[in-house]
Amino acid sequence: MKYYTEDSIIFLDGKFQPAKGAAASLFSQTMHYGYGVFEGIRAYATIHGTKIFKPYEHFERLIMSCQLLNIPFNYSLEELTQLSYQVLEKNNLSSAYIRPLVITGENMALSGSQESTLMIATWKWPKYFSHKEIDICISSIERPNPKSTKVDAKTCGQYVHAILASNEARQRGFDEALMLDANGFVAQGPGANFFFEKNGVLYTAPQGNILPGITRQTVIEICNEMEIPVKEKFFKPEELLEADSAFFCGTATEISAIRSFERHPMHKPWPSSLGSIVQQAYNNMVMEKSFAYVIV
Ligand code: PMP
Repeated sequence: MKYYTEDSIIFLDGKFQPAKGAAASLFSQTMHYGYGVFEGIRAYATIHGTKIFKPYEHFERLIMSCQLLNIPFNYSLEELTQLSYQVLEKNNLSSAYIRPLVITGENMALSGSQESTLMIATWKWPKYFSHKEIDICISSIERPNPKSTKVDAKTCGQYVHAILASNEARQRGFDEALMLDANGFVAQGPGANFFFEKNGVLYTAPQGNILPGITRQTVIEICNEMEIPVKEKFFKPEELLEADSAFFCGTATEISAIRSFERHPMHKPWPSSLGSIVQQAYNNMVMEKSFAYVIV
């Protein structure tokens, strides 16, 4: 996977510059302690031209993440959105992933930062999972305890857990991990939220131990519009042995079908699942195809 080439341009330190050779301080708290925040956003080549999907929602979360971590940050929603469109344009990209990162200042003490720098990069990231349906397992790595961090913030350091969980799953021969919260309830994937279907209802973990995903909220909105029952509840992994279908959802992941959980196949084939209906609706929505929600 190539994130930049000789010609790639990023926004850093208040200006557009070549990605190659661009630098941030080796003494930043982000580098040493993971004290920084970021976003993951997608733009699509829609029938109405290049459109960033839900930019305000993503940048609201970026600003909220800075506030939760006491990181000074002064960009407005509109500025951040415009800068992202400019980065796309300077890289000749319309269908792309956008990565804003707020890097904190030079400070080796464990005190808050007085300054921050914004980076925005973009690259092509067609599909997070290379195959159509994935096999998942329960991780021995739990989601961070909400009493130990700000779980609603998209904090750089929290992704150490995610990398550990994903690596463990791959070492065990699975595509991805499913992480529990500190009480043993299913929370989410390392970088995506999780839904499962049982008897015509979609279930997902409530807020509190999860990153409240923008795609998760979009799925709930699609379900409400299509009158697909959707409920937030705490559930144990054993419940998934009886699941009809399941999927991960996130900006990079989009809606990713799950084929099996701990080697137990889902009861329904994906094409006849509620997740598949949501997947089609989501694909139409990001491409701004007017309401061609397809019921299979
Ligand atoms: N959880 C984590 C830990 C994530 O990194 C992501 C991706 N940002 C998600 C959930 C899904 O969030 P969203 O739908 O906002 O991309």
